[in-house]
Amino acid sequence: MKVTMMHGAGGEVMGELLQTLTKFRHNNAGGIGLEAMDDGAVIPFQGNNLVFTTDSHVVRPIFFPGGDIGRIAVCGTINDLAMMGGKPIALSCGMIIEEGFEIADLVKIVASMDDALGEAGANLVTGDTKVMERGAIDGIVINTAGIGIAKNVVRDNGLVPGDVIIVSGSLGDHGMAIMAHREGFDLGEQIKSDVAPLWGMVEKALDAGTIHAMKDPTRGGFASAINEMARKSGVCVRIQEEKLPVKKSVMSAAAMLGIDPLEVANEGKVIMGVPPSHADSILSALRKHMYGRDASVVGTVTKGAHVIMETAIGGERYIEPPLGDPVPRVC
Ligand code: MG
Repeated sequence: MKVTMMHGAGGEVMGELLQTLTKFRHNNAGGIGLEAMDDGAVIPFQGNNLVFTTDSHVVRPIFFPGGDIGRIAVCGTINDLAMMGGKPIALSCGMIIEEGFEIADLVKIVASMDDALGEAGANLVTGDTKVMERGAIDGIVINTAGIGIAKNVVRDNGLVPGDVIIVSGSLGDHGMAIMAHREGFDLGEQIKSDVAPLWGMVEKALDAGTIHAMKDPTRGGFASAINEMARKSGVCVRIQEEKLPVKKSVMSAAAMLGIDPLEVANEGKVIMGVPPSHADSILSALRKHMYGRDASVVGTVTKGAHVIMETAIGGERYIEPPLGDPVPRVC
Protein backbone atom coordinates (compact mmCIF):
# COMPACT_ATOMS: atom_id res chain seq x y z
CA MET A 1 0.00 0.00 0.00
CA LYS A 2 1.29 3.45 -0.88
CA VAL A 3 0.66 6.93 0.45
CA THR A 4 -1.96 8.94 -1.44
CA MET A 5 -2.87 12.65 -1.28
CA MET A 6 -5.83 11.68 0.94
CA HIS A 7 -3.33 10.55 3.59
CA GLY A 8 -2.43 14.23 4.03
CA ALA A 9 -5.94 15.68 3.84
CA GLY A 10 -6.73 15.99 7.53
CA GLY A 11 -9.67 13.57 7.65
CA GLU A 12 -10.44 9.97 8.52
CA VAL A 13 -7.99 8.60 5.92
CA MET A 14 -5.15 10.63 7.40
CA GLY A 15 -6.22 9.42 10.82
CA GLU A 16 -5.59 5.84 9.67
CA LEU A 17 -2.06 6.72 8.53
CA LEU A 18 -1.41 8.49 11.82
CA GLN A 19 -2.17 5.27 13.69
CA THR A 20 0.98 3.89 12.04
CA LEU A 21 3.04 7.06 12.36
CA THR A 22 2.31 7.59 16.04
CA LYS A 23 3.32 4.12 17.25
CA PHE A 24 6.25 5.41 19.25
CA ARG A 25 7.04 3.69 22.53
CA HIS A 26 8.83 6.92 23.54
CA ASN A 27 6.05 9.43 23.08
CA ASN A 28 5.48 11.45 26.23
CA ALA A 29 7.84 13.70 28.19
CA GLY A 30 5.75 13.64 31.35
CA GLY A 31 2.73 15.74 30.36
CA ILE A 32 0.60 15.52 27.24
CA GLY A 33 2.30 13.53 24.51
CA LEU A 34 1.91 12.25 21.00
CA GLU A 35 -0.74 9.68 21.99
CA ALA A 36 -3.19 12.49 22.82
CA MET A 37 -3.08 13.71 19.19
CA ASP A 38 -3.93 17.20 20.46
CA ASP A 39 -2.82 20.44 18.79
CA GLY A 40 0.46 20.30 20.68
CA ALA A 41 2.35 18.57 23.47
CA VAL A 42 2.74 19.76 27.04
CA ILE A 43 5.98 19.26 28.97
CA PRO A 44 5.96 20.17 32.66
CA PHE A 45 9.17 22.02 33.46
CA GLN A 46 10.06 23.66 36.77
CA GLY A 47 6.45 24.46 37.61
CA ASN A 48 5.59 25.70 34.11
CA ASN A 49 3.62 24.08 31.30
CA LEU A 50 5.82 24.20 28.23
CA VAL A 51 3.72 23.74 25.09
CA PHE A 52 5.50 22.38 22.02
CA THR A 53 4.22 21.85 18.49
CA THR A 54 5.32 21.58 14.86
CA ASP A 55 3.71 22.04 11.46
CA SER A 56 4.89 21.74 7.84
CA HIS A 57 3.53 23.86 5.02
CA VAL A 58 3.14 22.93 1.36
CA VAL A 59 0.32 25.30 0.31
CA ARG A 60 -0.19 26.10 -3.39
CA PRO A 61 -0.25 28.79 -4.68
CA ILE A 62 2.56 30.19 -2.51
CA PHE A 63 0.94 33.65 -2.64
CA PHE A 64 -2.86 33.56 -2.36
CA PRO A 65 -5.65 36.06 -1.63
CA GLY A 66 -5.22 37.10 2.00
CA GLY A 67 -1.80 35.61 2.67
CA ASP A 68 1.13 33.47 1.63
CA ILE A 69 3.07 30.38 2.72
CA GLY A 70 5.16 32.47 5.15
CA ARG A 71 2.18 33.84 7.05
CA ILE A 72 0.56 30.43 7.19
CA ALA A 73 3.79 28.79 8.40
CA VAL A 74 3.99 31.11 11.40
CA CYS A 75 0.24 31.23 12.12
CA GLY A 76 -0.18 27.44 11.92
CA THR A 77 2.28 26.90 14.73
CA ILE A 78 1.23 29.91 16.82
CA ASN A 79 -2.41 28.81 16.63
CA ASP A 80 -1.66 25.24 17.68
CA LEU A 81 0.20 26.62 20.72
CA ALA A 82 -2.72 28.96 21.43
CA MET A 83 -5.23 26.09 21.23
CA MET A 84 -3.40 24.46 24.17
CA GLY A 85 -3.59 27.75 26.09
CA GLY A 86 0.04 28.49 25.27
CA LYS A 87 1.43 31.99 24.88
CA PRO A 88 3.82 31.64 21.92
CA ILE A 89 7.42 32.40 22.84
CA ALA A 90 9.83 31.11 20.19
CA LEU A 91 9.63 29.43 16.80
CA SER A 92 12.05 27.54 14.59
CA CYS A 93 11.88 27.44 10.82
CA GLY A 94 13.17 24.79 8.42
CA MET A 95 13.00 25.76 4.75
CA ILE A 96 13.48 23.32 1.88
CA ILE A 97 13.83 25.28 -1.35
CA GLU A 98 13.88 24.11 -4.96
CA GLU A 99 16.80 25.18 -7.15
CA GLY A 100 15.62 28.08 -9.34
CA PHE A 101 13.28 29.61 -6.71
CA GLU A 102 13.16 33.42 -6.91
CA ILE A 103 15.16 35.09 -4.11
CA ALA A 104 12.75 38.06 -4.28
CA ASP A 105 9.92 35.69 -3.35
CA LEU A 106 11.93 34.37 -0.40
CA VAL A 107 12.36 37.95 0.80
CA LYS A 108 8.58 38.47 0.62
CA ILE A 109 7.90 35.20 2.46
CA VAL A 110 10.32 36.07 5.27
CA ALA A 111 8.85 39.58 5.65
CA SER A 112 5.39 38.07 5.90
CA MET A 113 6.56 35.60 8.57
CA ASP A 114 8.08 38.49 10.51
CA ASP A 115 4.82 40.47 10.41
CA ALA A 116 2.85 37.51 11.78
CA LEU A 117 5.44 36.98 14.55
CA GLY A 118 5.13 40.64 15.50
CA GLU A 119 1.35 40.38 15.74
CA ALA A 120 1.64 37.38 18.04
CA GLY A 121 4.50 38.72 20.13
CA ALA A 122 6.72 35.75 19.28
CA ASN A 123 10.22 35.43 17.83
CA LEU A 124 11.82 33.11 15.29
CA VAL A 125 15.05 32.13 16.99
CA THR A 126 16.57 29.25 15.05
CA GLY A 127 16.35 27.75 11.61
CA ASP A 128 17.72 25.60 8.85
CA THR A 129 17.86 25.90 5.06
CA LYS A 130 18.26 23.17 2.45
CA VAL A 131 18.17 23.41 -1.34
CA MET A 132 17.14 20.51 -3.58
CA GLU A 133 17.66 20.02 -7.31
CA ARG A 134 15.09 21.39 -9.70
CA GLY A 135 12.15 18.97 -9.82
CA ALA A 136 13.03 17.29 -6.52
CA ILE A 137 10.38 19.33 -4.70
CA ASP A 138 7.71 21.78 -5.80
CA GLY A 139 9.12 25.25 -5.05
CA ILE A 140 9.31 25.52 -1.28
CA VAL A 141 8.31 23.62 1.83
CA ILE A 142 8.42 25.35 5.22
CA ASN A 143 8.38 23.61 8.59
CA THR A 144 7.99 25.56 11.79
CA ALA A 145 8.04 24.39 15.38
CA GLY A 146 7.19 26.48 18.38
CA ILE A 147 7.30 26.59 22.13
CA GLY A 148 4.89 28.43 24.36
CA ILE A 149 3.97 28.65 28.02
CA ALA A 150 0.48 27.90 29.29
CA LYS A 151 -0.82 29.21 32.61
CA ASN A 152 -3.76 26.84 32.21
CA VAL A 153 -3.59 24.07 29.64
CA VAL A 154 -6.70 23.71 27.47
CA ARG A 155 -7.39 20.44 25.67
CA ASP A 156 -9.55 19.45 22.73
CA ASN A 157 -11.26 16.71 24.76
CA GLY A 158 -12.80 18.71 27.61
CA LEU A 159 -16.37 19.25 26.36
CA VAL A 160 -19.03 18.46 28.96
CA PRO A 161 -22.82 18.20 28.58
CA GLY A 162 -24.35 21.64 28.99
CA ASP A 163 -21.44 23.46 27.31
CA VAL A 164 -22.09 26.00 24.63
CA ILE A 165 -20.15 25.76 21.34
CA ILE A 166 -18.70 29.04 20.04
CA VAL A 167 -16.94 29.65 16.74
CA SER A 168 -14.84 32.80 16.43
CA GLY A 169 -15.98 33.74 12.92
CA SER A 170 -16.95 32.74 9.38
CA LEU A 171 -16.14 29.21 8.27
CA GLY A 172 -14.50 27.96 5.08
CA ASP A 173 -12.72 31.18 4.04
CA HIS A 174 -9.19 29.80 3.67
CA GLY A 175 -10.02 26.63 1.77
CA MET A 176 -12.41 28.37 -0.59
CA ALA A 177 -9.97 31.27 -1.21
CA ILE A 178 -7.32 28.75 -2.27
CA MET A 179 -9.76 26.76 -4.40
CA ALA A 180 -11.43 29.76 -6.06
CA HIS A 181 -8.01 31.23 -6.86
CA ARG A 182 -6.81 27.94 -8.39
CA GLU A 183 -9.99 27.64 -10.45
CA GLY A 184 -9.50 31.20 -11.72
CA PHE A 185 -12.94 32.34 -10.52
CA ASP A 186 -13.66 36.04 -10.92
CA LEU A 187 -15.21 36.04 -7.48
CA GLY A 188 -12.00 34.46 -6.21
CA GLU A 189 -10.62 37.82 -5.21
CA GLN A 190 -13.70 38.51 -3.07
CA ILE A 191 -12.86 35.49 -0.97
CA LYS A 192 -9.79 36.00 1.16
CA SER A 193 -7.99 33.55 3.37
CA ASP A 194 -8.58 34.15 7.09
CA VAL A 195 -4.97 33.18 7.94
CA ALA A 196 -4.13 34.98 11.20
CA PRO A 197 -2.21 34.47 14.44
CA LEU A 198 -4.86 33.93 17.12
CA TRP A 199 -2.96 34.18 20.40
CA GLY A 200 -3.99 37.80 21.11
CA MET A 201 -7.66 36.92 20.73
CA VAL A 202 -7.41 33.61 22.58
CA GLU A 203 -5.61 35.29 25.49
CA LYS A 204 -8.52 37.73 25.91
CA ALA A 205 -11.02 34.87 25.80
CA LEU A 206 -9.04 32.90 28.42
CA ASP A 207 -9.09 35.96 30.69
CA ALA A 208 -12.84 36.41 30.17
CA GLY A 209 -13.97 32.99 31.43
CA THR A 210 -13.54 29.24 31.58
CA ILE A 211 -12.88 27.41 28.31
CA HIS A 212 -13.43 23.64 28.58
CA ALA A 213 -12.08 22.73 25.13
CA MET A 214 -10.52 24.45 22.15
CA LYS A 215 -9.43 23.47 18.64
CA ASP A 216 -8.62 25.25 15.39
CA PRO A 217 -10.62 23.88 12.45
CA THR A 218 -7.78 23.58 9.91
CA ARG A 219 -7.61 20.71 7.36
CA GLY A 220 -10.96 18.93 7.19
CA GLY A 221 -12.59 22.12 8.44
CA PHE A 222 -15.27 22.55 11.07
CA ALA A 223 -16.72 19.09 10.32
CA SER A 224 -13.47 17.32 11.15
CA ALA A 225 -12.57 19.41 14.21
CA ILE A 226 -15.98 19.30 15.91
CA ASN A 227 -16.21 15.54 15.38
CA GLU A 228 -12.76 15.07 16.91
CA MET A 229 -13.73 17.21 19.92
CA ALA A 230 -17.01 15.33 20.42
CA ARG A 231 -15.42 11.88 20.02
CA LYS A 232 -12.50 12.59 22.36
CA SER A 233 -14.80 14.17 24.95
CA GLY A 234 -17.36 11.32 24.76
CA VAL A 235 -20.28 13.68 24.16
CA CYS A 236 -22.85 14.65 21.54
CA VAL A 237 -22.70 18.08 19.93
CA ARG A 238 -25.83 19.64 18.45
CA ILE A 239 -25.23 22.40 15.88
CA GLN A 240 -27.89 24.82 14.66
CA GLU A 241 -27.36 25.24 10.92
CA GLU A 242 -28.75 28.77 10.71
CA LYS A 243 -26.28 29.95 13.36
CA LEU A 244 -23.18 28.78 11.48
CA PRO A 245 -21.41 31.84 10.07
CA VAL A 246 -20.55 31.20 6.39
CA LYS A 247 -20.06 34.15 4.03
CA LYS A 248 -22.32 34.39 0.97
CA SER A 249 -19.34 34.47 -1.39
CA VAL A 250 -17.93 31.33 0.23
CA MET A 251 -21.35 29.61 0.02
CA SER A 252 -21.72 30.35 -3.68
CA ALA A 253 -18.16 29.33 -4.62
CA ALA A 254 -18.58 26.14 -2.59
CA ALA A 255 -21.90 25.37 -4.29
CA MET A 256 -20.38 25.91 -7.74
CA LEU A 257 -17.52 23.54 -6.96
CA GLY A 258 -19.65 20.99 -5.14
CA ILE A 259 -17.64 21.43 -1.94
CA ASP A 260 -19.01 21.55 1.61
CA PRO A 261 -17.65 24.76 3.20
CA LEU A 262 -17.72 23.00 6.57
CA GLU A 263 -15.11 20.49 5.31
CA VAL A 264 -12.48 22.98 4.09
CA ALA A 265 -9.67 24.53 6.08
CA ASN A 266 -9.76 27.65 8.22
CA GLU A 267 -6.48 29.23 9.30
CA GLY A 268 -7.72 31.96 11.63
CA LYS A 269 -10.64 30.47 13.51
CA VAL A 270 -11.21 28.67 16.78
CA ILE A 271 -13.96 26.39 18.09
CA MET A 272 -14.55 26.61 21.85
CA GLY A 273 -16.70 24.73 24.30
CA VAL A 274 -17.56 26.88 27.32
CA PRO A 275 -19.94 26.65 30.29
CA PRO A 276 -23.17 28.54 29.50
CA SER A 277 -22.66 31.00 32.37
CA HIS A 278 -19.36 32.12 30.77
CA ALA A 279 -20.57 32.28 27.16
CA ASP A 280 -21.56 35.95 27.13
CA SER A 281 -18.31 37.26 28.59
CA ILE A 282 -16.17 35.07 26.32
CA LEU A 283 -18.24 36.00 23.28
CA SER A 284 -17.87 39.71 23.98
CA ALA A 285 -14.10 39.32 24.53
CA LEU A 286 -13.83 37.56 21.17
CA ARG A 287 -15.98 40.15 19.39
CA LYS A 288 -13.80 43.00 20.65
CA HIS A 289 -10.85 41.49 18.78
CA MET A 290 -10.41 42.09 15.04
CA TYR A 291 -10.25 38.34 14.34
CA GLY A 292 -13.35 37.53 16.39
CA ARG A 293 -15.89 40.15 15.30
CA ASP A 294 -18.28 37.53 13.91
CA ALA A 295 -17.93 35.15 16.86
CA SER A 296 -21.17 33.36 17.63
CA VAL A 297 -22.77 30.54 19.54
CA VAL A 298 -23.50 27.73 17.10
CA GLY A 299 -24.57 24.83 19.27
CA THR A 300 -24.66 22.96 22.54
CA VAL A 301 -23.17 19.82 24.09
CA THR A 302 -25.38 17.00 25.35
CA LYS A 303 -24.87 13.45 26.60
CA GLY A 304 -24.38 10.87 23.88
CA ALA A 305 -22.23 10.68 20.77
CA HIS A 306 -21.94 12.13 17.24
CA VAL A 307 -22.35 15.65 15.90
CA ILE A 308 -25.92 16.43 14.89
CA MET A 309 -26.97 19.32 12.68
CA GLU A 310 -30.39 20.81 13.34
CA THR A 311 -31.15 22.05 9.84
CA ALA A 312 -32.73 25.38 8.95
CA ILE A 313 -35.91 23.59 7.75
CA GLY A 314 -36.40 21.75 11.04
CA GLY A 315 -34.74 18.41 10.23
CA GLU A 316 -31.73 16.67 11.73
CA ARG A 317 -28.71 15.00 10.18
CA TYR A 318 -25.25 13.93 11.24
CA ILE A 319 -22.26 16.12 10.48
CA GLU A 320 -19.92 13.30 9.50
CA PRO A 321 -16.16 13.49 9.94
CA PRO A 322 -14.91 13.95 6.33
CA LEU A 323 -12.64 11.33 4.75
CA GLY A 324 -10.36 14.24 3.88
CA ASP A 325 -10.34 17.93 3.06
CA PRO A 326 -11.64 18.32 -0.52
CA VAL A 327 -8.97 20.96 -1.23
CA PRO A 328 -5.47 19.41 -1.52
CA ARG A 329 -2.31 21.24 -0.38
CA VAL A 330 -4.30 23.87 1.46
CA CYS A 331 -1.74 24.64 4.19
MG1 MG B 1 -4.69 22.45 15.30
